This record gives sequence, C-alpha cells and structure tokens, in this order.
Amino acid sequence: MSAEILSGKDVAAALRAEVADRVAVLAGRGKSVGLATILVGDDAASQIYVRSKHRAAEKAGMLSFDHHLPAGTSQEQVERVVASMNRNKDVSGIIIQLPLPAGLDGNRAVGAIDPAKDADGLHPHNLGLLALERSALRPATPDGIMRILEHYGVETDGKVALVLGRSVLVGKPLGLMLGAKGVDATVIQAHSRTRDLDDLIGRADIVVAAIGKPGFVMGDQLKPGAVVIDVGINRTPEGLVGDVDFESAADVAGAITPVPGGVGVMTVASLLANTVTAAELTAG
Ligand code: NAP
Repeated sequence: MSAEILSGKDVAAALRAEVADRVAVLAGRGKSVGLATILVGDDAASQIYVRSKHRAAEKAGMLSFDHHLPAGTSQEQVERVVASMNRNKDVSGIIIQLPLPAGLDGNRAVGAIDPAKDADGLHPHNLGLLALERSALRPATPDGIMRILEHYGVETDGKVALVLGRSVLVGKPLGLMLGAKGVDATVIQAHSRTRDLDDLIGRADIVVAAIGKPGFVMGDQLKPGAVVIDVGINRTPEGLVGDVDFESAADVAGAITPVPGGVGVMTVASLLANTVTAAELTAG
C-alpha cells in the first residue's frame, strides 16, 4: 500500500471541539443551542445514526430533542412535529432522519423545516443558496468531504473530479461544492446511465464514490496518484465496506479515505457545525 490515508477522525475531532467552543460562547450570552431529530419507524440503522447524533450533540454542550414516531405516522403528523420544532426557541437545528418509511414524502417533510434550522442543509432554500455559492448551511456529508480535502491540502484547482452518484444527499451538492469558484475543480458527475465509466475513472485526479455498491471502484481503474474519497457505507457479511476496493485502490491512489473512519465520521461533525451556525445566525 502506498497511498496516504485520509482519516476523518482527527478532522472530525477538531471540528467537534470548535463546535463545543462556539456553543460555550453562545451559552455565555445566555443562548442555548439545540438539535432536534425526527425519526419515523423502527429501522435499526436509522436508530443507531440518530443515537450517535444525540450523543455528539450532548458532548458538544447542545440540548437534544428526540422525536421517535411510530411506523404508520401520517405525513401531516410528521409535519406537525416539524412545525412545533420550528416554533421551539430552544431548537436551533432540525434533522429528519431519511429515508422516511414508504408512503411518506421525505422531500415534502424536509421542505416543512424552517430553512434557518435546516441542520442537514437539504431544504430547497439552502440547496438553492448552495447553487448560488452563498450557502451557510450545507449538506453535511459533502461538507465533511470538503473539510477532509481542505485539511489534507488536496489540490482541487483545475483538477478533474469525478463524482460517482448524483443523489441530493451526496453526489449533487458535492458536485456543486467541487466546481464552485475558489475550489475550481472540473467536475464530471456520473450516474447509472453514464457510459465509458472506466475511461472517466482513469482520467480523474479526484474520484468520489457515492453509489452504494461494495467495492465498485477497483485500483486498476484509477489514474496513479489519484485522490480517492469513498463515501459508500455497505453492510456485507465481511463487515462494513465502502464503494471502493480499498486493498487494490490503496496500491495505486496517492491518497484514500478508509471505511470506516473516513467520510462517515465527518457527517455528524458537519451537522453539529450547521446547528451551531444556525444558532449563531439567529442570535445575530
Ligand atoms: P442513492 O440515493 O442510492 O444514490 C446512488 C447514486 O449512485 C445515484 O445517483 C445512482 O445513479 C448512482 N449509481 C448507481 N449505480 C451506479 C453505477 N453503476 N455507476 C454510476 N453511478 C451509479 O445513494 P446515496 O444516498 O447518495 O448514498 C450513496 C452511498 O453513500 C451509500 O452507500 C450510502 O450508504 C453512503 N452514504 C454515506 C454517508 C456517510 O456519512 N459516509 C452519507 C450518506 C450516504 P442514478 O441517479 O442514475 O440512479
């Protein structure tokens, strides 16, 4: 293995410490910071994610509000809880744990969040600001990726960045962030209908894999020295693996994020950062 390991752990720890300091400053001014989550149903993985968000929020000195609604909750009931969190002055950030169970409209529920409390940065208002390069609250996972690139001094200016995936959660906003003025990568946004993917992977200086397919990107596809960001979280009989075959990729790449311990640990830290930013903006 020759690649530098881009661990998210140190970057996340530093960001969490910075968030805790900012929460303490607000507390000194008599302003509390609170994170509210809304989870519907009994999905085990979602429950684990939500618990980890509350633990992290409390460690950072935030209040946390946990709304766990039973499967079978109606869209209107979900949106009533959102509306009550919008009104609650102790709540600075709101997260709807996605995906919602079948029959519920996640986009509509996220659209009901007050954009000023949109801790996940997924409200259409904040996604619009991201497109305008004026965003304060950015989608947490791509924001975490950008922080990793910045921390390790990965050069993006004029580099070819291939983003595999175009979801609203990861691929699409990351494409906007990488192509923004000041970051200046030349972005190729790939998806399931993209042709000649092998050729595109081989030309990219930065490869981001966010598709949800274990070991999809192999080392022999990569340009030697490429920076590889593995967003995938896939549960397999062998354990948690990414969308990149780590063993083969680490022999060819210049740098690579591990799974676990790479992008995943940044996501919670970034959404805490959004929550304290939201509180600061409200506090003035
Ligand atoms: P998603 O909504 O299912 O989107 C997957 C994307 O991959 C789609 O745009 C799809 O294309 C594209 N795709 C599928 N097969 C492809 C192929 N063969 N070649 C090129 N593109 C292909 O998934 P997501 O929410 O973005 O998540 C992606 C992965 O990241 C998952 O493993 C998820 O668990 C993980 N994730 C991790 C974090 C974290 O914190 N680390 C956060 C969120 C997600 P189409 O649009 O054409 O269907």
